[in-house]
Amino acid sequence: MLKFSTYNCLKSCIRSRLLYSTSTQVAKRVIGIDLGTTNSAVAYIRDSNDKKSATIIENDEGQRTTPSIVAFDTKSSPQNRDQMKTLVGMAAKRQNAINAENTFFATKRLIGRAYHDKEVQRDISVMPYKIVKSESNGQAYLSTSNGLVQSPSQIGSILLKYLKRVSEEYLGEEVKMAVVTVPAYFNDSQRQATKDAGKLAGLNVLRVINEPTAAALSFGIDDKRNNGLIAVYDLGGGTFDISILDIEDGVFEVRATNGDTHLGGEDFDNVIVNYIIDTFVKENPEITREEITKNRETMQRLKDVSERAKIDLSHVKETVIELPFVYKSKHLKVSMTEEELDNMTSSLINRTIPPVKQALKDADIEPENIDEVILVGGMTRMPKIRSVVKGLFGKSPNSSVNPDETVALGAAIQGGVLSGEIKNVLLLDVTPLTLGIETFGGAFSPLIPRNTTVPVKKTEIFSTGVDGQTGVDIKVFQGERGLVRNNKLIGDLKLTGITPLPKGMPQIYVTFDIDADGIINVSAAEKSSGKEQSITVIPNSGLSEQEISKLIEEANANRTQDNLIRQRLELISKADIMISDTENLFKRYEQLISNEKEYPKVVEDIKSVRQSISKFKANENDMSIDVNEIKKATDALQGKALKLFQNATKNQQKQASK
Ligand code: AMP
Repeated sequence: MLKFSTYNCLKSCIRSRLLYSTSTQVAKRVIGIDLGTTNSAVAYIRDSNDKKSATIIENDEGQRTTPSIVAFDTKSSPQNRDQMKTLVGMAAKRQNAINAENTFFATKRLIGRAYHDKEVQRDISVMPYKIVKSESNGQAYLSTSNGLVQSPSQIGSILLKYLKRVSEEYLGEEVKMAVVTVPAYFNDSQRQATKDAGKLAGLNVLRVINEPTAAALSFGIDDKRNNGLIAVYDLGGGTFDISILDIEDGVFEVRATNGDTHLGGEDFDNVIVNYIIDTFVKENPEITREEITKNRETMQRLKDVSERAKIDLSHVKETVIELPFVYKSKHLKVSMTEEELDNMTSSLINRTIPPVKQALKDADIEPENIDEVILVGGMTRMPKIRSVVKGLFGKSPNSSVNPDETVALGAAIQGGVLSGEIKNVLLLDVTPLTLGIETFGGAFSPLIPRNTTVPVKKTEIFSTGVDGQTGVDIKVFQGERGLVRNNKLIGDLKLTGITPLPKGMPQIYVTFDIDADGIINVSAAEKSSGKEQSITVIPNSGLSEQEISKLIEEANANRTQDNLIRQRLELISKADIMISDTENLFKRYEQLISNEKEYPKVVEDIKSVRQSISKFKANENDMSIDVNEIKKATDALQGKALKLFQNATKNQQKQASK
């Protein structure tokens, strides 16, 4: 094939397009969601005293972040896989040691990835849950122990649905629109899969923005920093990103971005897990490494203590990892120092250095010219990482940013820009990877280089390589290598029925159009025959439109039933908490209340509420049981317990005044 460059969109034209598009007001609330590998957060724009500011929405447990974990209770409804009880966030995390096979965490590392990817294969060997190959598209999917197979987008949608509900309860209104963040280095398939997750959750994802860009938005606005170059170093649970941004009077322009979509805290935890297994096996030669790694529950327990040790070592110099009865009644006890952790994870930390250098080079900036370095992601609390970053930029990172919340806050700000609530802010993001097509002999012909500001549109003219060709197959790739076989195939476009002409004669105009989400549209047109074809690059992997519609229909059909089940479960959980709170108070103030005449009655009431809960739990799916009985009993218990304490306090005061 031949090719000639014809059209290139200039930055100034993009600026005016964006200025135009951001002033198109949506005039409805748009929440910001950080759908993280380990934790997720949601924020909105609050209006207080005429000042707009991004604010985190606490979840129903009062926490500002929610573990990105979804668990299924496979025993709850074995006859109907789709109605299995689902736990989200902290509730899922609490039970992971006893239900490891059905507790899905860090699934963002799998989103939009083919099963055969080497990163997926690495995860298969360490994850306690089952990763399977999707029969329909060869992508990495997840399977529960009773065979419910779901895509990582579906798991993501359960988390998004939860965050949507939490926001609606907090704001007292229906929430339909969101800005969702993704790692800057996510490719097209991963971005599409994230958008799919939003759709499944009933959210219109107005924009997908890069996590470090969101962090910079939040920092830039809060800090009232009008001008300057900032570097955002973002190391979270599963991904690493580096972005270099130029802030100029409210215009946030990403100059370059780079990273690794499979490097994060999970990898650090796995290094520790391997180290403690080695130590344990050495001390107990009758046990083999293989039998431990095959035991999902043991692996989950080892992972939990490893993460805890890693976090401890950010605050203390030495820690002891202890797990009684970890395997075959043997106990585990291993001590670890901060220096040992630094050494065993040095190759992981060092993997962040080349992307930082590349991003600075692409942006044509020397490290000393960076005005501020912002750290994002829980892993940046590790002292060794802070010192490596300091070494790279020659200055201490800014410590005013909360690495867990800043991304969601930035997403809310972008939501505010789209809804028209926030003015005078403009975001110019870039495409993280080079885009192009396959040309003769498997060569990769780039059309849009990495770090080009989006949205962008570019057309190039190509021709045929064989005489009398009546069709061309345009294969779209993303990557930095010269041969397509080393890059990622993200779409395929066939242009047929073109006039047969000698090779090199037909003029095929190939246009790439990347929108502000980084989603790619490709079209091809041949002049003499007037034939045209276009595709939105739907990843080879990923859910099809039909699959998404089917899943949405199913969710809609089950919505009333799902809500009912959720409300019932919430009532039970509240009753449970009420009982344990009351019993704890009884223990603490035993002397004060044990002689009160109401005391034995309240103890009896607790017993009867507990019995009702057990009865319900044994028949959870029987919708004919009226759980309002439990609510009434819980309210009565609360009233009586309060009275008991009031009377006891009064009596004590009487006694004291005698
Ligand atoms: P994120 O995806 O930003 O929520 O980051 C989560 C990752 O940060 C997990 O791997 C956590 O184990 C890790 N993390 C959180 N706090 C700390 C800490 N104090 N020291 C080291 N790692 C941490």
